[in-house]
Amino acid sequence: MRRLTVLGATGSIGVSTLDVVARHPDRFEVIALSGHRQIDRLAEQCIAFAPRFAVVADTASATRLQALLAGKVGTEVMHGADALERIASLPEVDTVMAAIVGAAGLRPTLAAARGGKRILLANKESLVMAGGLFMREVADHRASLLPIDSEHNAVFQCMPAAGRAGVRRILLTASGGPFRRTPIADLADVTPEQACAHPNWEMGRKISVDSATMMNKGLEVIEAHWLFDTPAEHIDVVIHPQSIVHSMVEYVDGSVLAQMGNPDMRTPIAHALAWPERVESGVSPLDLAAASDLVFERPDLDRFPCLKLAFEALRAGRGTPAVLNAANEVAVAAFLEHRLGFRAIADVIAATLESLPDQPADTLEQVFAADAAARVRAREIIGAIT
Ligand code: NDP
Ligand code: MG
Repeated sequence: MRRLTVLGATGSIGVSTLDVVARHPDRFEVIALSGHRQIDRLAEQCIAFAPRFAVVADTASATRLQALLAGKVGTEVMHGADALERIASLPEVDTVMAAIVGAAGLRPTLAAARGGKRILLANKESLVMAGGLFMREVADHRASLLPIDSEHNAVFQCMPAAGRAGVRRILLTASGGPFRRTPIADLADVTPEQACAHPNWEMGRKISVDSATMMNKGLEVIEAHWLFDTPAEHIDVVIHPQSIVHSMVEYVDGSVLAQMGNPDMRTPIAHALAWPERVESGVSPLDLAAASDLVFERPDLDRFPCLKLAFEALRAGRGTPAVLNAANEVAVAAFLEHRLGFRAIADVIAATLESLPDQPADTLEQVFAADAAARVRAREIIGAIT
C-alpha cells in the first residue's frame, strides 16, 4: 500500500492522479491533498478520498473548505506555505505527487526530498530553478525521483536500468503547440484562448502557453539535464506533432529506444505511481494502424525564440535558469491577462536575462533572490513596453 500526498490535487495533473488512484483502492491511500483557489473541487476530492489533511492558500479558503466538509468527512484543514511543506514530509506518507504549478512548488517539493519520499515530479520549475540544490537533497536524504513529465517519463523508461553506459543522446519530442504553422507575422496577435487550445494535450493554462512558445520544451531540456545528468550538447529537441512518441534515448550502437502511447498523462502518472510494477491507467490502447503518419521535424528557433533562451540559460548555469523561469512566469501571467502580446513573452525574458547575468545560486536564499529580482525586473520591462 502506497500512502500519498498530492500537492496541486485540483489541477490538471492532480485530477489525473486521483483518477488513476481511484482505480486501485487496494494499492493507494490518499493521506493529504492540496489546492489553492478551487475550493469546491478540493471539497469534492476530500469527500471522495477522505484524506487526513487538506491544505489551501489562506484562512478564508480554509473556513470555506471546512464548511463544505462539515458533517461529511473528518479531514483536518490547514493553510499556508508551511502546511504544504508539512504534508509533503509527513512520516506516514511515502509518496508525494509534486503537481503545484510554478515556483510555488519548489519549497514543498524540497520538503518531500528532505523527508526521503518517493517524489513523482510534475513541477519541472523546481528543477529549473534549483536543480543542483534539489538533486543534492534527493541524494542526501535517499529520496527517489520519478518523472511525471511525459518526455522525461519516456526517457526514464528507455534508459538502461542502471547507469548511463552506452547512452549517446536524449531526444525530447515536442508537439510544436498550436502555432507550429501560423505565419510568424500573425503570432503577435494570438489570444490566450488560442494559445491554450493545445492540439493534443489538455493541461493547465500556464504550461499550455509554455507549450505554444516552446518555453515548455526549454524548461524540459533543463529538467532532463538534471534528472539524467546529461549536458546540453547531448539533449536534442525534435518536433513530433502527433505526440505519440513521447521521447527517445539514442545509444552508441545506433539503437534508438522510444516510448509510445496515446497522449494522456495518466500513463506516466500510473507508471510512476506503481513503479517498478505496472498498473492499468484508464488510457485507451494505442492503435498504430489508425494513427496518422508519425512526423518528425527540426524546431525553427526564429519561430520559437524561448527554446533558444532556455538552452542559453542552461549553458550559462548558476542562477540564470531561475531568472529565465521567473521572467517566464511573469510574462505568461501578463499574456494570460491580456497585458502583453504573445511574441513579447520572449522579448521580456530576453531583456530580463540580459539585465541580470550570472546570479549566484549556491543556496536556496540566493535562488529565491534571483527569482525575486527577475520578477521585479520583468514587471518593469512589461510596464515600459505596454
Ligand atoms: P494547473 O494549473 O492545472 O494546476 C496547478 C495546481 O497548483 C492546482 O492544484 C492549483 O490550485 C495549485 N496552485 C497554483 N498556484 C499555487 C500556489 N501559489 N501555491 C500552491 N498551489 C498552487 O497545472 P498543471 O496540472 O497543468 O501543471 C502542474 C505542474 O505539472 C506544472 O509544473 C506543469 O509544468 C507540470 N506538468 C503538467 C502537465 C500537464 O499535462 N498538465 C504535463 C507535464 C508537466 P487551484 O487550481 O486550486 O488554484
Ligand atoms: Mg512535457
